[in-house]
Amino acid sequence: MPSGRRSSKRPYAAQHVELDVLRASGGRSTEDDEQGAWVVQQVRGSDREFRCPGCDQLVSPGTPHVVAWRSDGLPGQGLDDRRHWHRSCWSARSRRGPSGRAGR
Ligand SMILES: [Zn+2]
Repeated sequence: MPSGRRSSKRPYAAQHVELDVLRASGGRSTEDDEQGAWVVQQVRGSDREFRCPGCDQLVSPGTPHVVAWRSDGLPGQGLDDRRHWHRSCWSARSRRGPSGRAGR
């Protein structure tokens, strides 16, 4: 009879380093995906509303969300290309967020 069955499959936790970077940088971090490099800024909310490119719904004024823009664009261009995302939409897009839904 089989005994001592052990699973060596354990997710490697290297991605948690990103959280420390985020904390140390005041809510700003960088992410890479197939489109290029992005700067991701966590914001508490603004006094305007924006359209989230992830779900095509409005991000209401005062809603905590993330602002992302390309970091590999030409100098001075990146800020014109900023996008405001719901946090859940951004993390669902990148699929690289922390496991579980911490930070709700
Ligand atoms: Zn959204």
